[in-house]
Amino acid sequence: MRILILMLLAGSALAAETAIHNVTAYTSTATGIQEFTVLVFADDGKILATGDESLLAEYPQALRIDGNGRALLPGLTDAHAHVYGLGFLEASLNLAGTPELADAVRQISEYSIANPLLKWIQGRGWNQVLWAVKEFPRAADIDAVVSDRPVWLRRIDGHAGWANTAALEIAGIDGDTPDPIGGKIVRDTSGKATGILVDKAKDLMTVHIPTPDKDDIRRAYLLANDYLISLGMTGVHDAGINIREAEVYMSMADDGELDLRIYAMLRDAGENLDGLGKPIREYGLDRLDIAAVKLFADGALGSRGAALIEAYADDVENRGQPFYTTDELTRFTRKANDMGFQVGIHAIGDLGNRMALDAFDRVQGGEVSPLRNRIEHAQIIALDDIPRFAELGIIASMQPTHATSDMNMAEDRIGPERIKSGYAWRRLLDSGAVLASGSDFPVELASPWHGLYAAVTRQNRNGQPDGGWYADQALTRAEALHSFTLAAAYAAHQEGRLGSLEAGKWADFIIIDRNYFEVPADEIDDIQVLETWIGGERVFKAGEAQ
Ligand SMILES: [Zn+2]
Repeated sequence: MRILILMLLAGSALAAETAIHNVTAYTSTATGIQEFTVLVFADDGKILATGDESLLAEYPQALRIDGNGRALLPGLTDAHAHVYGLGFLEASLNLAGTPELADAVRQISEYSIANPLLKWIQGRGWNQVLWAVKEFPRAADIDAVVSDRPVWLRRIDGHAGWANTAALEIAGIDGDTPDPIGGKIVRDTSGKATGILVDKAKDLMTVHIPTPDKDDIRRAYLLANDYLISLGMTGVHDAGINIREAEVYMSMADDGELDLRIYAMLRDAGENLDGLGKPIREYGLDRLDIAAVKLFADGALGSRGAALIEAYADDVENRGQPFYTTDELTRFTRKANDMGFQVGIHAIGDLGNRMALDAFDRVQGGEVSPLRNRIEHAQIIALDDIPRFAELGIIASMQPTHATSDMNMAEDRIGPERIKSGYAWRRLLDSGAVLASGSDFPVELASPWHGLYAAVTRQNRNGQPDGGWYADQALTRAEALHSFTLAAAYAAHQEGRLGSLEAGKWADFIIIDRNYFEVPADEIDDIQVLETWIGGERVFKAGEAQ
């Protein structure tokens, strides 16, 4: 794709500029939404000007592209997501919805043939309840088509896995292996392991699966890249990579294999941070920044791992458990900040958020820091703590679809009072905080349109609940777009070159099939991306093979 475009550009070598005209374009700016109909950018991929059709006269040599009246927006950035996790899912065998065991077996066979170099075949999504014989499948079913390599396939709910005999042998599981605590090895009437491992018994298998090598990582990144640009994404903040993943990103940026602009956070302030040593910025045609460190204050609400100031409403003995003390969070943050890295602390519960704010407060001496530290998720915040985001210049990096996926569970966990300061986008914005939005894919679906829709409606994709869940916390369309564009760029120190369509910035934009600002709110979710351009280069066109 990239080579083809270079050839096309070479063919029009006389045109030093490109003008996309006859578009209905919007961009968020520091002073609000601006509209225009013509976008002109130079061959170096940077925007020269935006304006109305009269602008064309100023660039008579420009290659003109008629936008046919379509809507055009800045490319969208997911400010918190996991690129390898998504790419791994894209690369692995997906058995979701297979109607019969025979279909699953046929897909395993085809996938095995198509991927001869994989040392392990991994997949997910099978569900025996959908099949005529509603029984667990067996190792022998896979052995019939793949017997020379281990196969490990997770059930749709993740609570069970299905192995072939080669995998059972590698894991040393036979009829004599005892069930581990919290797990079960399914056995036949003679006591032999059938190939199904439930809950903690899965660990007997997963410890033997090799960690991904650089080729695995690169393949996952490429798949994720191609998928994400088709959704209109031009940037991702990758929330937690290790040093090996950092090296893969760098080599891909060197080789021109990354379309997306990746802003990566290193996982923890330990060996990954020591390994990289100093932040990397604008690497490989500005495709890669590694300038942040991701820390964890607590766990998640669903499993009651989020740390709360008071007990859970539905488990009155339990307040969750912070991962670290505030002293430890302070020490890790200080180390990373001293090395020039921004810090993003994962904090879900109101105690987790308070501890993160306390750590930032100490390291920053109560002042705003030029490093723009962030709190990732910022889900449940004590009302008293909300103003501290703006006071300390802490960015709230939030995920609109978490609210609409979690709403019923979250209210059960923390009750009707505390939920008022949960997923409180409006309160944070009104307090003066910068709000950057993302999806946390693959925990949620990757499409930023789901996020924009959830941000504006506070409804799930079935339109529930009527009128929106605590709809007073919803964003306007302009605010939602801002949180996925210019605010996301700000959260990565990139607002001088990314996040809006203004002269001097990269020409990262998308053309979509309907007008985001004018469609009924329930259609925002359905918006389709027709073209994605990054750095003045078209990297995706709907209907064309990549
Ligand atoms: Zn995450």
